[in-house]
Amino acid sequence: RQEIEAMPPWLRQRGIGKASEISTVQRIIKQRQIHTICEEGRCPNRGECYSQKTATFLLMGPTCTRACAFCQVDKGHAPMPLDPDEPQKVAESVQLLGLRYVVLTSVARDDLPDGGAGWFVATMEAIRQLNRETQIEVLTPDFWGGLLGQGDKGTRGQGEEESVLDPGNLGVKISLEEKQYQRIATVVKAKPACYNHNIETVRRLQNPVRRGAKYDRSLNVLRIVKNLDPNIPTKSGLMLGHGETEAEIIEAMKDLRAVGCDRITLGQYLRPSLEHLPVQKYWTPEEFERLGAIAHELGFSHVRSGPLVRSSYHAFE
Ligand code: SF4
Ligand code: SF4
Repeated sequence: RQEIEAMPPWLRQRGIGKASEISTVQRIIKQRQIHTICEEGRCPNRGECYSQKTATFLLMGPTCTRACAFCQVDKGHAPMPLDPDEPQKVAESVQLLGLRYVVLTSVARDDLPDGGAGWFVATMEAIRQLNRETQIEVLTPDFWGGLLGQGDKGTRGQGEEESVLDPGNLGVKISLEEKQYQRIATVVKAKPACYNHNIETVRRLQNPVRRGAKYDRSLNVLRIVKNLDPNIPTKSGLMLGHGETEAEIIEAMKDLRAVGCDRITLGQYLRPSLEHLPVQKYWTPEEFERLGAIAHELGFSHVRSGPLVRSSYHAFE
């Protein structure tokens, strides 16, 4: 297995966008000490997204309680306590930036009693108060797991615990499936414009790439959303380049369609640092195009497939 160091030309030609727009967003979010994936991940699409009045907010702090090998969010430290003003600060930023389409996402907060589901809803409500027209997509974690330190090893990736102490009902154990269902239902009730949950990679590569998550558990998130409210479009995405084959990608797309997933994003994984997984393959723009055509054939209503496509890229369309 040899890492391919040279970045192919189609990835070097990234759109930069207007520096003024980027710095306005940076200033507004920095002042409020809130976070966006756009800035945190120095996303190559920032210029384009900001000028189209869309951005992705990272709620509940930048420190994750899990440790996926591809992901560049901060991990390994204690997650920050919630900032009680965060929903309001995000809502004000949406207003100041005149955003028309907002994606709300979060790290996995397995330390919180509800996994952060209520925080998604509080932020949606705050945004709607100030921005009636703004559409809100959610990109949630799998909401699996319970409070750390209460015997729930599942949240750390081993995934074998069956139940946790229900913090609202001390002493009573409820299954992790039930907990996941309740958390998803909380978010679904707030009626996001789209419910997104990424499976990230094909079934075979879940363990090395996504520590702490499981393929079927993620498919189940999308299934639950569809069962709860078939009117909410569901969406998922894969980052290609971890060594998956085309047949495996097609298999994953079929699995997503089987749980009623409406929309899909396929993008190229780029190694954030030498500490992250190396890129196994750079898929060419032509290959992305072919995979996109296959996704359409499989019945996805919205397909974004290309080297620089990210989960929230062109989300508003
Ligand atoms: Fe932000 Fe997503 Fe656009 Fe990147 S693709 S700039 S993360 S909204
Ligand atoms: Fe990143 Fe994994 Fe945490 Fe999601 S769960 S923020 S992919 S480390």
